[in-house]
Amino acid sequence: MTPLPVYHRLPTDQAETLFARIVGRCSQRSASGPPVLVLDLDGTLMDNRPRTAAILRDLGASWEKAHPEDAASLRACTPERLAYLLSDSLRRLGVQDPARLAEATEYWRHRFFTDDDLRHDVALAGAVPFVRACHAAGATIVYLTDRDLPMMGVGTFASLRSLGFPLGVAGVEIILKPDAQMADEAFKRMVAPTLARVGEVVASFDNEPANCNLFLEAYPKADIVFVDTQHVPGAPPLHDGVFVVADFSAAHVPDIPRAEGEP
Ligand SMILES: [Mg+2]
Repeated sequence: MTPLPVYHRLPTDQAETLFARIVGRCSQRSASGPPVLVLDLDGTLMDNRPRTAAILRDLGASWEKAHPEDAASLRACTPERLAYLLSDSLRRLGVQDPARLAEATEYWRHRFFTDDDLRHDVALAGAVPFVRACHAAGATIVYLTDRDLPMMGVGTFASLRSLGFPLGVAGVEIILKPDAQMADEAFKRMVAPTLARVGEVVASFDNEPANCNLFLEAYPKADIVFVDTQHVPGAPPLHDGVFVVADFSAAHVPDIPRAEGEP
């Protein structure tokens, strides 16, 4: 088994300096337009493991009579016990039978990539106040996500809103995949150069090394930040110059309440 790569997260004081610099850059408008902050959602602003855990617990409930042992394993599922790949998670939870693994994968796929279950996602530590502070400072916020518009657009809007991220006001955009079949990296590679029409990209956050690398190539003057949560197995090494943080807790920004009239 290939060992998981180890990323060198910034020490706390350097992470604090990085976040402060980014918030500062969000108030500086250049000749290229407003400062733009590009933010991935899954694994970056949000932890989606609670979504998978909720889905597997529901499946466990439906297996109660037919497969009581596997049902009990699934009903005890918590986010902390999940691996990146569902097949690894199921085996870790004790589901070994090939037919049941296939059934569980189908069940999960039909729910994970749809609007309704996005309500289970939670914000990463410090993410909401950080994004609100950047928006308040003057940045245009671009949520750039691998989720697809037809199946996950409405749920994404609802989830961002309920978690308290800036939404539905001037200076916020959401970019989603036109359809689920497009490869994630190809989608972001296609979108990256088009963000110049929004303004000047000053920072980008993503939990996939490949996406961080392509943003560093597209915007070498921006602060590109890898959020070290979980990522696809076999990802390429991070380019030199990409910063690594665990979450947004070093941002230390005051929580800005919703303005009157804000959705
Ligand atoms: Mg992601």
